[in-house]
Amino acid sequence: MNPITPIINGMKITLKHMFMKPVTLQYPTERPKVAARYRGLHGLKVSHSRAKCVACYLCPTVCPAKCITVEAGEDANHDKYASVYEIDMLRCIFCGYCVEACPVDALKMTGEFELANYRREDFIYSKDRLLEK
Ligand code: SF4
Ligand code: SF4
Repeated sequence: MNPITPIINGMKITLKHMFMKPVTLQYPTERPKVAARYRGLHGLKVSHSRAKCVACYLCPTVCPAKCITVEAGEDANHDKYASVYEIDMLRCIFCGYCVEACPVDALKMTGEFELANYRREDFIYSKDRLLEK
């Protein structure tokens, strides 16, 4: 084989890639499109203007990272609701077990993936913060 041939072949590949559409995204200006089943940050669903969660404690029980805190309250109609609902996102492993375990479909995992903060306590998502998602 001509010793120049591998060099020419290598140059051909390099030139081809130089003119191809870039595969990288100019993040954060360009945003990635996440898959429909992507397991991002959690959100609490709302029904009749309040959180659907009925504080059954199934999600904190099933959570392998033990990062969900639920405290039950009772409203004027003696219905149970979550007076406290928190998820420590630093401990969460985004397995999705909590969503699967919920009997009233009160929890979802959104396509949101940005999780950066300066203080550790800011990674604990309160009920209000989860309701916004
Ligand atoms: S996704 Fe998994 S680790 Fe995270 S809160 Fe739900 S059950 Fe726990
Ligand atoms: S499993 Fe659902 S209803 Fe039960 S505490 Fe968790 S979010 Fe609330």
